Amino acid sequence: MAYVPAADRYDSMPYRHTGRSGLRLPAVSLGLWQNFGENRPFETHRAIVRRAFDRGVTSLDVANNYGPPVGAAEETLGRILATDLRPYRDELVVATKAGYNMWPGPYGVDSSRKYLLASLDQSLRRLGLDYVDIFYSHRFDAGTPIDETMRALDTAVRQGKALYVGISSYSAAHTFEAARLARELGTPLLVHQASYSMFNRWIERDLLGVLDQEGMGCVAFSPLAQGMLTDHYLHGVPTASRAARHGSLPAEWLTDENLAKVRALRDIAARRGQTLPQLAVAWTRRDPRITSTLLGASSVTQLDDTLGALDNTGFDDAELAEIDRYATD
Ligand code: NDP
Repeated sequence: MAYVPAADRYDSMPYRHTGRSGLRLPAVSLGLWQNFGENRPFETHRAIVRRAFDRGVTSLDVANNYGPPVGAAEETLGRILATDLRPYRDELVVATKAGYNMWPGPYGVDSSRKYLLASLDQSLRRLGLDYVDIFYSHRFDAGTPIDETMRALDTAVRQGKALYVGISSYSAAHTFEAARLARELGTPLLVHQASYSMFNRWIERDLLGVLDQEGMGCVAFSPLAQGMLTDHYLHGVPTASRAARHGSLPAEWLTDENLAKVRALRDIAARRGQTLPQLAVAWTRRDPRITSTLLGASSVTQLDDTLGALDNTGFDDAELAEIDRYATD
């Protein structure tokens, strides 16, 4: 049966302007990094994405290399767009990126013009789209002049293959320089996608100030510290979890010290009537400079739980001070 999205999908999701732009993003975006490749059934992918859209999550984030294997998450999203979301394309913000290893040889990695523009063409084919809403330089590359990378992003917009462009995980100093160059080219950077969670607060130090000054938004990724800010790892490492896959969440992070912080934060969450993932996401929403919080989910149940964060995003000073005792990186 054809998918019909929930009629009330815009009733409760808050949307914030992305920096000084007209583009509003939902408080929560969905990322397809590790859970949308060939490692899970398509019907699971489809159910998560449908559920997200039904709840007002209009912003979907992939990268060329998301899978596994690389390219698979874009193919998955392309399939869901073709089967379910095609009529709603104009209600969606689809973002992709290039910067990490994608294909063999010197032109399938880093941030050259050669790589970024070829990769964007490949991404569009996998997604089955004429354009993406946001195209990101996935990482700063010391081997490519930043001016070359910004010119490639500018070209992507002028070719009509991206509506907006952004950068990811650039330092504050490189962000400042990139923003200046992009503005001079006439294609201002819309957004910076950066890691941010209770266990990773680097953006508070100077990046958010630069983004504010430059009129850029911030999309905060891995708000659950890849699953650490949940109950997941309190009693060992579940076989189906990210840490068990020996991937990006090394078992060495699951120290007694970190797990003690997780328990303390879970107790604070419980006093607020929240689960720990809800607290972790709500906490990222306290700063108006964070346009959207970009989370991952391996099931509809996880997504629903985490989205419950939006029911209670207010904090008083005493709560924030208590959280600060454990929310350290
Ligand atoms: P999170 O910190 O939200 O971690 C998601 C993981 O946490 C899930 O896969 C799941 O782990 C677990 N989880 C989620 N919800 C719950 C819940 N309610 N209860 C228990 N466990 C839960 O984010 P990600 O690290 O996945 O990153 C989110 C997105 O950010 C990515 O998909 C990607 O789009 C983007 N990103 C961007 C990067 C960049 O360089 N620009 C880098 C990294 C991410 P499990 O799978 O074990 O069940």
